[in-house]
Amino acid sequence: MRQDTVVEPLPSASAEFNVQNVRKDFPILERRVHGKPLVYLDNAATSQKPRQVIEALDNYYRSYNSNIHRGVHALSEQATAAYEDARDAVRKFINARSVREVIFVRGTTEAINLVAQSYGRRLKSGDEILITAMEHHANIVPWQMLCEQTGARLEVAPINDRGELIMEEFERRLRPCTRIVAAAHISNALGTVNPVEEMVRLAKVQGAVTVLDGAQAVPHTAVDVQSLDCDFYAFSGHKMFGPTGIGVLYGREALLEQMPPYQGGGDMIKMVTFEKTTYNDLPHKFEAGTPHIAGAIGLGAAIHYLSGLGLADVSGYEHELLEYSTAALSNIDGLRLVGTASQKAGVLSFVMDRIHPHDLGTILDMEGIAIRTGHHCAMPVMDRFKIPATARASLAFYNTREEIDLLAQAVESAKKVFA
Ligand code: PMP
Repeated sequence: MRQDTVVEPLPSASAEFNVQNVRKDFPILERRVHGKPLVYLDNAATSQKPRQVIEALDNYYRSYNSNIHRGVHALSEQATAAYEDARDAVRKFINARSVREVIFVRGTTEAINLVAQSYGRRLKSGDEILITAMEHHANIVPWQMLCEQTGARLEVAPINDRGELIMEEFERRLRPCTRIVAAAHISNALGTVNPVEEMVRLAKVQGAVTVLDGAQAVPHTAVDVQSLDCDFYAFSGHKMFGPTGIGVLYGREALLEQMPPYQGGGDMIKMVTFEKTTYNDLPHKFEAGTPHIAGAIGLGAAIHYLSGLGLADVSGYEHELLEYSTAALSNIDGLRLVGTASQKAGVLSFVMDRIHPHDLGTILDMEGIAIRTGHHCAMPVMDRFKIPATARASLAFYNTREEIDLLAQAVESAKKVFA
């Protein structure tokens, strides 16, 4: 019965990265859009799903769909085992010490809100929360809400013209009253890879807890929460080739133990009476109600898939593709890249003379090329660069040089339309 839900040891990396073979795992890459082969370059918004993930979801709903942690019947036991196996796969993937430190949530947004509304309850007037100027709204607004509730103050460390955090300014804003430091590991709007190890080290000197937004990091680079030494790490399944509606909050066990529950309901309790309720052990204390069971199982499958490819190979391939893409786009007259950090991941944000990003996005769509245009949920980044929006092409390991050539050609054609 358990056979098809037991998680095997994570596979080791393949000897060589073969993009054409990898593409065969993604059925959607075979489709056409407006009569043209799909060129999917919107991976920072969400990634496509390999057959292995789709099959894991299908298999769950077809053959052992059931609620978890409650039933004594076979299906429930099987679903519970698969859900908890997925948790263990996450634990190994990010090198957490224990499954008690792995909380399933809806995504990065919910993970950060959980920390703000649970850990954050201990903040008071006079305390400060330090973020950076390149954060996604998901790593700004929950802290603003917490400041409104507690009287704490939000401090923002600025970025330079390349979109890099100015470390001296970050350090200057770190004070004994800084209680929380929250920062993107990788920026979704600029592609900047932050020096998070150093940021965590500096934060610890001041006694602040650290929250890393790993939404854009986990799909592209190996993450080890123990070597990062952060207190919290948040990410979303759908950006790492898993389903939507599932994500992870990693939290240091000692902190999670002290924190009050985020939501109340079924599964997060040990005993309920009208006089007093006692809460469940970690991680269940933070998982009230029926979770996204299929989502967690699908995320487990995505982790197996990614581990099978080998994140070192994935990173290497994507880095090469980023260099190729940067050169290709930089060659286009009238195109300006926004975000040129020395440490960058596969995000190419750009603006064009005389063409609004939305118009460019629409023209590219007619060529079957999917990019994102807008503020990318990072309005303060747009303000920093004094632009309303950018066009953003974001890469994944299934993208190819040929696709980048098509992007560059389509941008050149768009220029002619607006000439
Ligand atoms: N942080 C970053 C850096 C992101 O890119 C995103 C998604 N665009 C989020 C947070 C929010 O993720 P989700 O919508 O999956 O909760």
